[in-house]
Amino acid sequence: MEPAREGESRWFQHGAARPVDRTDARGGVNAGPETGVTTARVPHQPYEMATERYMKKCKKCGETKPIAEFSKDAKARDGMQSSCKACAAAYYVANREKLRSANAKWQAENPKKRGVSIAKYRAANSVKLKSAAAKWWEANADKRRIYEHNRRASKREVGGKLSKGLSERLFKLQRGKCACCGLPLGDDYHLDHIMPLALGGVNADTNMQLLRQSCNNQKYAKHPVDFMQSRGFLL
Ligand SMILES: [Zn+2]
Ligand SMILES: [Zn+2]
Repeated sequence: MEPAREGESRWFQHGAARPVDRTDARGGVNAGPETGVTTARVPHQPYEMATERYMKKCKKCGETKPIAEFSKDAKARDGMQSSCKACAAAYYVANREKLRSANAKWQAENPKKRGVSIAKYRAANSVKLKSAAAKWWEANADKRRIYEHNRRASKREVGGKLSKGLSERLFKLQRGKCACCGLPLGDDYHLDHIMPLALGGVNADTNMQLLRQSCNNQKYAKHPVDFMQSRGFLL
């Protein structure tokens, strides 16, 4: 075997035949239609430079496209996926269910590997993840209320589940007013269990109402009738 030339360590290491030299005057590599050579990366070329210069032939659609039209793949010899992004996306859409179930199967069979990779990812991205999560919850206050109620209910082993969009539906039903005092709910209203979980209430849509924050704070875990009577209603 010939010794590796400068910048050819990858070919050399793999013991592969040296590819046909298609280097053009600018140092780019052209795909050869007759060989299907789709070299996308010359070793020691930064990826950013390669993106501007190189073309790659998609194995799926057969089109030769700029390298930016392909996703990275660390396992591939040229560092890029063999199908272009458009073909990869189309494949994903067409095989969504199959891919999902294969993924679920792998995760079920490799709980430890999955746990390790998730833990690694979380550890490496903890700050980013935390602020992203905080932002999301802030922007989705209604979802948070429902999530928190469901979580608390499952902790108490009450079970039951509130449905998505419940807050919006109740808001309309209550015409934007507090179920207790009738004042406008505003933005920071609370989703309240009419019969508190602590008193055996169920975590279900039918046991929910929206209260202004201050009314909810007074009610807390009181029996709904006691509470309304304490507020001057003769229920
Ligand atoms: Zn393609
Ligand atoms: Zn109120």
